[in-house]
Amino acid sequence: MADYDFDLFVMGVGSGGVRAARMSAQYGARVATAEDKYMGGTCVNVGCVPKKLFVYASHYSEDYHQAQGFGWDQVAPGFNWTTLLENKNTEIARLNGIYKGLLDNAGVAHFDGRARIVDQHHVAIGDTVVSTEKILIATGSWPVVPEVPGSEHAVTSNEAFFLEELPQHCLVVGGGYIAVEFAGIFHGLGVRTTLSYRGPLFLRNFDIDIRKTVRKELEKKNIGLQFESNATSIEKLSSGRFRVEFAEGNQMETDLVLYATGREPAVKDIGIENVDLELRSDSSIIVDENFRTSVDNIFALGDVIGGMQLTPVAIEEAMCFASTHFLNIKKTMDYDNVATADFCQPNIGTVGLTEDEATEVGYEIDIYRSTFRPMKHTLSGSDEKFMMKLVVDRRTDKMLGFHMVGSEAGEVIQGIAIAMKVGVTKEQFDATVGIHPTTAEEFVTMREAINR
Ligand SMILES: Cc1cc2nc3c(=O)[nH]c(=O)nc-3n(C[C@H](O)[C@H](O)[C@H](O)COP(=O)(O)OP(=O)(O)OC[C@H]3O[C@@H](n4cnc5c(N)ncnc54)[C@H](O)[C@@H]3O)c2cc1C
Repeated sequence: MADYDFDLFVMGVGSGGVRAARMSAQYGARVATAEDKYMGGTCVNVGCVPKKLFVYASHYSEDYHQAQGFGWDQVAPGFNWTTLLENKNTEIARLNGIYKGLLDNAGVAHFDGRARIVDQHHVAIGDTVVSTEKILIATGSWPVVPEVPGSEHAVTSNEAFFLEELPQHCLVVGGGYIAVEFAGIFHGLGVRTTLSYRGPLFLRNFDIDIRKTVRKELEKKNIGLQFESNATSIEKLSSGRFRVEFAEGNQMETDLVLYATGREPAVKDIGIENVDLELRSDSSIIVDENFRTSVDNIFALGDVIGGMQLTPVAIEEAMCFASTHFLNIKKTMDYDNVATADFCQPNIGTVGLTEDEATEVGYEIDIYRSTFRPMKHTLSGSDEKFMMKLVVDRRTDKMLGFHMVGSEAGEVIQGIAIAMKVGVTKEQFDATVGIHPTTAEEFVTMREAINR
């Protein structure tokens, strides 16, 4: 057998790469990693973590306002963007250190820099070339900005986490979960915000009642929503502001244009042309159920293989990879009923099939839905509404989908996702005694199907 420097070389130290490297090393492999930019990856540096910190920050504006209904004196809170940015950066630096420590403690050799595949068994990091039996591509994904005149003036989520100044007005272009989250963040921080999306309604892959509820709630907050809206050019004005023209004939002046228009697999400049790697038309790397690419000793997982672009998915894929290839216990990924949250305001939590998906698959379904004012808002003065929905298989009584818009929806749905995993029925939900007074109790008290 050839004598390689390493058993495994992991390209990219993100959610998937860190876990794959650490577990493979724990199972006895000699592992090396390389990271180009973000120790800990997108999630830690320019994704889930800073995003959620910003969501917390932005929600205080409503909290301050609503506290008056509970007897707190009116206050005129001031907000300091620099403080938030500095505190966020300190926290991320702490996490960067923790991730590096995880690799060190597992005995993983780490290279700072961009890795390129030289051939099937060699990887270069700058001038250093190492040999390896297996290569794992865990390079994640990168924001895509559609090319329109002036699109170089737009920022993406990568830069939005490091803005020197908070704009007075912001245009968010896009209709996915990141666009909707950023619209909520900016609005909550006092930025006048408009969201422009080319389709008829945002959050395309979510249940229709989630999409409609979030639309109503954002409109109540006075976030400008432009659907069927296509930005065609961005011009930088002498004032430093930007003028955006739309195909529909309107135009807008704004201080910041944020494109959240999707992410593409990060396969550019990683040396795939040096090996015979098969990609799909969207550039995602094709792998089998053990994350093996079309090249026998090269593997890939996480955002770079397409599919669900979520941190816990990349992590679980990495667990399966390490177990299968370095513990010799074959483990495959189960993509069914992966729960997810969108931290727009109010939050979304969802698991299982949407109403439309269940119908398309051919289920005969019963729908249970409740839209209500949460108890907190009886005194807060807010007219925010929460929505909870169950999709049930009429024939077997099995729960097919849970969907929620409301505060801490992610926390609620995480527990429900476990019940889904073990095939919970509506009867078992009905037999569950609720916790009072909570929002979550609504899930076990819905008795009348709305479509009967
Ligand atoms: C704004 C935003 C918010 C998000 N919010 C959530 C959320 O709330 N919940 C959730 O589950 N997911 C969220 N995600 C998605 C989540 O961050 C990704 O799904 C996850 O990070 C994917 O993990 P990964 O290991 O595939 O890639 P990444 O974490 O992106 O890691 C890939 C790493 O590879 C490095 N790299 C790339 N090329 C090379 C190379 N040639 N050599 C060396 N290093 C290289 C990159 O610098 C990067 O650090 C969010 C993403 C964004 C952008």
